[in-house]
Amino acid sequence: MQKTEFKAESKRLLEMMIHSIYSNREIFLRELISNASDAIDKIYYKALTDSNLTFAKEDYYIKVEIDKDTRTLSIVDTGIGMTRDELENNLGVIAQSGSLSFKRENEAKDGHDIIGQFGVGFYSAFMVAEEVTVITRALGSDSAYVWKSAGVDGYTIESGQKATVGTEILLKIKENTEDENYEDYLDEYRVRSIIKKYSDFIRYPIKMEVTRQRPKEGSEGEFEEYREEQTINSMVPIWRKNKNELTDEDYEAFYMEKHYGFDKPLKHMHISVDGAVSYNAILYLPETTPFDFYTKEYEKGLELYSNGVLIMSKAPDLLPDYYRFVKGMVDSEDLSLNISREILQQNRQLQLIAKNIKSKITSQLQNMLKDERDKYEVFYKSFGTQLKYGVYSDYGSNKDTLQDLLLFYSLKEEKMITLDEYVSSMPEDQKYIYYATGETYERIEKLPQTELVVDKGYDILCFIEEIDEFAIKMLMNYKEKEFKSVASGDLGIEADEDKEQTEQEAQENKALFDEMKKILGDKVKAVRISKRLKNHPVCLTADGDLTIEMEKVLNAMPN
Ligand code: ADP
Ligand code: MG
Repeated sequence: MQKTEFKAESKRLLEMMIHSIYSNREIFLRELISNASDAIDKIYYKALTDSNLTFAKEDYYIKVEIDKDTRTLSIVDTGIGMTRDELENNLGVIAQSGSLSFKRENEAKDGHDIIGQFGVGFYSAFMVAEEVTVITRALGSDSAYVWKSAGVDGYTIESGQKATVGTEILLKIKENTEDENYEDYLDEYRVRSIIKKYSDFIRYPIKMEVTRQRPKEGSEGEFEEYREEQTINSMVPIWRKNKNELTDEDYEAFYMEKHYGFDKPLKHMHISVDGAVSYNAILYLPETTPFDFYTKEYEKGLELYSNGVLIMSKAPDLLPDYYRFVKGMVDSEDLSLNISREILQQNRQLQLIAKNIKSKITSQLQNMLKDERDKYEVFYKSFGTQLKYGVYSDYGSNKDTLQDLLLFYSLKEEKMITLDEYVSSMPEDQKYIYYATGETYERIEKLPQTELVVDKGYDILCFIEEIDEFAIKMLMNYKEKEFKSVASGDLGIEADEDKEQTEQEAQENKALFDEMKKILGDKVKAVRISKRLKNHPVCLTADGDLTIEMEKVLNAMPN
């Protein structure tokens, strides 16, 4: 039989597929199932418009079969099938070469999830199979053809037998190697979970015969195994359902099912956008900080689906860093598996979605703060620090929105307040927004530096996290009020006559202060008289922009 060589491009791609180290071989099944689903789509739409074709709903399905004896995994569909020419053109040539040149340029980088980013569909079968056989019969044709290939050498096509229209893909699974347990792909449980993971929302049933157990008749307590065909996928994704039909429990169940977190979600958002870019998303604010949130292991990102098919389990570019706590998924028809073959990061659609999602999260948080303060404070306790990091690291306009989402503990109110609330309740003569840093609220309360400010009837924001002061320094001011540490040299409170008096007292006691400075030496920069103290004899203050707390942080940083 005549063996046809693959076209040059295809050959290189194939070589790359087979020999590269993919940590994610399992996605071959997703690709083949997606192709099967596409093929059924085609026949389905044809039947809709062609009255000569009659199909019932149960005629459309995909079947996955495992034969351990022949080490074969097969994917059978009732789709439109392929003619001889189509076999030649579709499976002999790879259409896109853009992805190939991209891969070549990026050869050095690791190949992780490479297909997820610009999958190469059918060819991925060769990652797990030593031989691939395609038996297909096209709609409207009586002849069937068999396409066979063992990889780079090329392929053969010959006539074959097939009773019904559709396609069967038979994969002769590779033998186990030291690095890879290929026979996993012949394991019923494993195959099922791969289907569930990537193809749960394929619109047609994916059937598979599975082993089950039932009580053995007549013998108490004994079980027997039996085989039964099951539909593995749930088909209708929750995000395509009407919001009105869904309950909080449904969203909670999805959160659990997807293992987005071990807690219950605090809040969910169901977003459906139609416009320049269309997408559905279900996003969650978790209630508690994930245990690994502050470790390197924590990965931000959302699940990304293209038309119901998972293409990436953590698409990081969909979330800004300061919203890295958000969990959930995005599904867009505008991101076909084909589009995804380009570099996702530079994908315009994806950038639009990301921008849109960011503003949805922001308005959700704004609304929560306004209407569900208790809930917001629970959220803030878990993730407020992240927003402060957002303020600190974002030079753009996001700072303006983020600053209004911040809460700080008010010394006067003894509760969490926003900057707006602070400024709104400032007495008219108050010039600055005062804050004090310390390890706990109790400690801050006892700080001698707070006395004068408190005495004036001004409120003080308590900063107990290192990031607090850094974030505030980035803001510089809020509603034209500058931030001022109660530990700064000049509090802006002393009246002019006080200043004069202080000056005079300083002169009178100069000898004493000089002596003190001599004893303390380098430990202090100067010893001065202070008007800010009432009950405490002495306090430390900082000169210049840095407070003592900030200096501590900076000094602790590795150089
Ligand atoms: P893509 O699906 O992105 O087009 P693939 O490499 O996955 O790329 O598949 C190549 C082509 O082969 C498909 O476009 C389709 O025309 C054809 N094909 C693959 N699998 C099937 C199938 N099960 N039934 C019919 N045609 C198929
Ligand atoms: Mg495909």
